[in-house]
Amino acid sequence: MTKRKKKNDIYYLDTASLSVKKVRVSMRQRLFRLLRYLVVCVFLVGVAFFLFAYFFESPRERQLSEDLSVARAQYRYLNKRVDELNLVLTDVQDRDRDLYRMIFEAEPPARKAVLRNNYSEFKDNEIGDVIMETSESIDRMANRLYAQSLSFDQLYLLAQQKEKRMSCIPAIYPVNKQKSRMSSGFGQRFHPIYKRLIKHTGVDIACPQGTPVYATGDGKVTVAAQNMVGYSGYGVVCRIDHGFGYESLYSHLSSLAVKPGQKVKRGDIVAYSGNTGMSSGPHLHYEVFVNGKHVNPVYYFFIDISPEEFLEIFEKSKEINQSLS
Ligand SMILES: [Zn+2]
Repeated sequence: MTKRKKKNDIYYLDTASLSVKKVRVSMRQRLFRLLRYLVVCVFLVGVAFFLFAYFFESPRERQLSEDLSVARAQYRYLNKRVDELNLVLTDVQDRDRDLYRMIFEAEPPARKAVLRNNYSEFKDNEIGDVIMETSESIDRMANRLYAQSLSFDQLYLLAQQKEKRMSCIPAIYPVNKQKSRMSSGFGQRFHPIYKRLIKHTGVDIACPQGTPVYATGDGKVTVAAQNMVGYSGYGVVCRIDHGFGYESLYSHLSSLAVKPGQKVKRGDIVAYSGNTGMSSGPHLHYEVFVNGKHVNPVYYFFIDISPEEFLEIFEKSKEINQSLS
């Protein structure tokens, strides 16, 4: 009886016996074939899934993608709002700086950045670029607001001290106006002894010997001496520290009425004018310092001088004449 051939059986021609024989396949080989078949199937299914996922979005992915796009637009809108607020803040800072300069004659505090965040954590985010941009803008604004709040604190302190400060600033004429005259101003002047142009660091007010010299603002006497080291040619000299960066100096005096360390009020007699040191005639040489630097004293005669008197003194002080030293 002939065996029925199965569909999947494999046969070969045995040339020795010239007969067709069936190839015997072991169970192991069968299992191996099945496994190989499964691996190929899994691989093909994987490739198909990958291609599908790559070219087509699932509804959830589509929704997420739309959400991202909306979030990006919202971040951009927020950025725009932050930029607008920064502009407002710039205006506040400008007005703040004007307050310092116009009312308190001071510079506003330096506005340094104080907060610094690490934005790298947003790098891998799909909309990391706009998040970083927004975060940086917000931090910059936070820095500026922080600096501004410090500035307002400082302003508050200055306002509290304003009255004291006003009484300390050297602001009056240092001798009686009626008994004196401005003879030489601040800047390049011919020196009466060196006979050449030398920077005149104060103003010369010609007045009779022994004219009372007044403290031009509240303060503390730091120098009251004759032939003091560092004051060569000044003769008898008096210097007052008024605080807030202001100082005044009176030289070529005949005598002193105060001692170093003594506190004085504006208008107190601190000395009497004279002709000591390198001087070519009786006069008061008067200097004003702001933060250690010489300034033109003419701009500090603003309390007991009328606008007309100020103009007269100012015009006189501009003449490039010879100083009395
Ligand atoms: Zn002088």
